[in-house]
Amino acid sequence: MTSTIKIASILSCLFLLTVTSAISVFAAGGIVKSPTGTAPDRYVYYPGTEELKKDEIRLIACGTGLPAARRDQAATCFLAEVGNGDKFLFDIGTGSMPNVAALMIPYDFLDKVFLTHLHTDHWGDLSTLWAGGWTAGRTGPLKIWGPSGATKEMGTAYAVDHFLKAYNWDAATRNFVLSPKPGEITVKEFDYKAVNAVVYQENGVTIRSFPAIHAGDGPVSFVLEYAGLKVVIGGDTFPNKWFIKYAANADLAIHETFLTPPDLVKFYGQSPGQALLVGTGIHTSPQAFGKVMSTIKPRHAVGYHFFNEQSTHDDILVGVKETYSGPLSLAVDNMVWNISKEAIVERMVVSPDQAWAVAGPNKPPKPPAKGTVPDPITDFIKAGRWEPAEAAQAEMVKEFKKKYKLK
Ligand SMILES: [Zn+2]
Ligand SMILES: [Zn+2]
Repeated sequence: MTSTIKIASILSCLFLLTVTSAISVFAAGGIVKSPTGTAPDRYVYYPGTEELKKDEIRLIACGTGLPAARRDQAATCFLAEVGNGDKFLFDIGTGSMPNVAALMIPYDFLDKVFLTHLHTDHWGDLSTLWAGGWTAGRTGPLKIWGPSGATKEMGTAYAVDHFLKAYNWDAATRNFVLSPKPGEITVKEFDYKAVNAVVYQENGVTIRSFPAIHAGDGPVSFVLEYAGLKVVIGGDTFPNKWFIKYAANADLAIHETFLTPPDLVKFYGQSPGQALLVGTGIHTSPQAFGKVMSTIKPRHAVGYHFFNEQSTHDDILVGVKETYSGPLSLAVDNMVWNISKEAIVERMVVSPDQAWAVAGPNKPPKPPAKGTVPDPITDFIKAGRWEPAEAAQAEMVKEFKKKYKLK
């Protein structure tokens, strides 16, 4: 069923390309030269099969949806992979981790997370990356960059500190059998009011932050610069003066374009008053999105943050077209852009539903030495183990111990 959905997504993507006249993407077509030959690259990216060029950025939409869950669209998450090998997760919204995991990137390479703000649809799947990565190959701590808030309690450091407190039972029980290192999270909190400030600079990658206007003080937008390329990750925001100034001339600019007020009423069950406030005050309408893009003139514009189906897609496209006619993607999950000086190519990721984690080059850290971490199970509970089950598995356990020379 999922592959049917993927094909449908590809078809709708092709439809989108025809209406947006992004000519460069048609270079991804080609012809099959013989009945026994291979098919050319057909609007599809198979993860792990293409080496990234030194001066290239690959950006993958791992979540493009809303706080309310939908199987077809997770909440916000964009993975940026740059030609030097570094990878950056921008937001990790609810439900986005299955899309990230399906890329089969070793967890050690997915240790840098930049949060635009602390709505769950932008960081709700941190738990999955944190604990899942811990059990499946990450060898060191997770590193999170995120904005401060108007008060200490509204900032990223506070959020992550209390995230770890909320998951204390999880950590305490894993610490007994796994190295505690990958369960740690380091936070680099930066001033949400800082304008175009560098928040990360390493190995030729610069990431800057500027304020966004959304729901409360704290949200930010990011600019990633690498190899003379500029990618803007807007997060959630009403159009603002900082975006106009610092996202100008981006190679690829992502800005939200929210469901239209009529669709918020029709599909999301909001009252007309609510719909207008949410769709034109807290978020960005399609017309306002178009105005932003025709002002900053990116090489390629990306709109996201709406449930993207035929009717909503068309409503948004009609709104955007009132004010913008340049190259455009209305994002769905698993859309991917290869960005270089020569071209910006949009395709769809085709990835397995049953992907396993892939080991990276680093050796896993040793579990804690016996007695250094308190046993989280008391003798009272242990005494409840059912003997016939122990007996039933005894032979298998003996064989396994023999094979791996375990005591
Ligand atoms: Zn938000
Ligand atoms: Zn959001």
